Amino acid sequence: RAKAEGKGAVRRFTSDLEDEYEARLVQEGELAAAIDNGEITVAYQPIADLFTGQVLCLEALARWHHPQRGQVSPATFIPVAETSGLIDRLGELILRESLKRAAQWPSTVQVNVNLSPQQLVSGQFPTVLATILRETGLLPARVGIEITENIFVDFSKSVLDQLSAIKAQGIRLVLDDFGTGYSSLSYLQMVDVDGLKIDASFLRQLPDRKVEAIIRTVTRLTADLNIHLVAEGVENALQLQWLRTNGVHFGQGFLLGRPKDNPPLDWIDHLP
Ligand code: C2E
Ligand code: MG
Ligand code: MG
Ligand code: MG
Repeated sequence: RAKAEGKGAVRRFTSDLEDEYEARLVQEGELAAAIDNGEITVAYQPIADLFTGQVLCLEALARWHHPQRGQVSPATFIPVAETSGLIDRLGELILRESLKRAAQWPSTVQVNVNLSPQQLVSGQFPTVLATILRETGLLPARVGIEITENIFVDFSKSVLDQLSAIKAQGIRLVLDDFGTGYSSLSYLQMVDVDGLKIDASFLRQLPDRKVEAIIRTVTRLTADLNIHLVAEGVENALQLQWLRTNGVHFGQGFLLGRPKDNPPLDWIDHLP
């Protein structure tokens, strides 16, 4: 800092970094408090059968109601939780809350919970999950854990062992945002996933010859592997029609329903 005195440009750069650092500390402190004060809640978004409208699963999505700033997006606060070490507490809170809720739903409705790669650092996640399952009495087959391809970026034996331990409990593993990360088909060989969610960015580009080929290929791939495919980001009737015509059975998106505190538990009755 002292060295920067008198060098305007350098000094400005330094204090920008400091501002950012301070903002981060404030956010971390506020997030830690929010976890304790009940400012974090869970919203649920349906994953439905695109042909019948039946609700098959609800994805648990973290919400932060900040007393001054209002709704803070998980795209903002999950990264803060990941770099500050708060993700384990936050993840456990979301998991406990959503599994408790799911225990009150009809047994045909499953629950999916997102897992951050950071939650596999301590090695404790499979045990925490088993404990919460026991507490809530939920059948393991009704629980899905959504991981992204990022989990494999610096995967280790510990990561693979924990994913196997999750599977061994009878819980479903779902590969989220498929096709956008450092996608490698070999991940499908390494980990026994029960389903893929193809990222919303593909559907958003319809109609487009290349994107159509990609979605059709992923549809064939999942059919051959005998695993589920969910299309993310179903926003309009044209996309829905394209998916039906091309044999994609399951979807999630604003057309079917936005994330809500109390989502429908049976049918999406407004499906075109
Ligand atoms: P994700 O797991 O891929 O979740 C889907 C996101 O897409 C959600 O955003 C959902 O609200 C949004 N979405 C659903 N349908 C549509 C649509 O038709 N159009 C558009 N434009 N968006 C749609 P959300 O809730 O803001 O969450 C963003 C991301 O934050 C999630 O992406 C997930 O990666 C992360 N996240 C959320 N909750 C948790 C959590 O409890 N734990 C962890 N580790 N990550 C979470
Ligand atoms: Mg997800
Ligand atoms: Mg996703
Ligand atoms: Mg996504």
